Amino acid sequence: MSLLFKDSIDAHYHRKSTIHKRSVFYAHKSAYCVILINDYLTTDMNLILFGPPGAGKGTQAEKIKSYFDIPHLSTGNIFRYNIKNETDLGKKVKSILDAGDLVPDETVVDLVVDELQKPEYQKGYVLDGFPRTVPQAKALDEFLAENNTAIDSLIMLSVPEKELVNRILSRGEGRSDDTSEKIKNRLAVYRKETEPVLNYYKEKGVVQEIDGVGTVDDIFGRIKEALK
Ligand code: ADP
Repeated sequence: MSLLFKDSIDAHYHRKSTIHKRSVFYAHKSAYCVILINDYLTTDMNLILFGPPGAGKGTQAEKIKSYFDIPHLSTGNIFRYNIKNETDLGKKVKSILDAGDLVPDETVVDLVVDELQKPEYQKGYVLDGFPRTVPQAKALDEFLAENNTAIDSLIMLSVPEKELVNRILSRGEGRSDDTSEKIKNRLAVYRKETEPVLNYYKEKGVVQEIDGVGTVDDIFGRIKEALK
């Protein structure tokens, strides 16, 4: 109901802040409208953006963030920020990221659970790079269940492996883990530890596979379709 309503409004009104203003306007006109709009406002959109390294998760997460007005939580970005600023967490995880290995589950889960309790995440979010192991997915779901919420959708960005390597090597972000050797390890870790997360969520019926090849806008168009 709420998403149907949302689709019927003009694209300029996709930001919740704007919709909120409209809800005040409608409040004077009809209580029924307010119920519909409030139904939308209280609908969490808890998303996971999933896929191998180089699939374009970070780029698409930023598009989702601005279109749906929900925060983007990237565990990789948080780790890189901490490494750059030489925090305790940064010192702890630097060699792990440099090697393209995974940070221990407990460290990542603690970080994400702390983050998700902040007020800005209460109306939905897009997770990027988490959960990356089945134990992380289970810990996330337990935390969400305790808070009477859940993951609504997992968007899987599918990209052929050869294209992944080319994309990472050519994006030139200067990341310490973007060398051929490290990319090989990251892809192996993805296949062994992270791919099983997909089956875990498939069993929950929330997985949507998206063709991750094309222009940024083509791919984002497919994501929007899938989330309708
Ligand atoms: P990519 O998807 O390109 O590999 P990310 O920015 O998501 O890049 O992650 C970079 C690195 O940060 C990973 O290789 C890993 O070392 C660490 N990391 C990020 N998220 C997690 C996670 N959920 N669990 C364990 N390690 C993580």
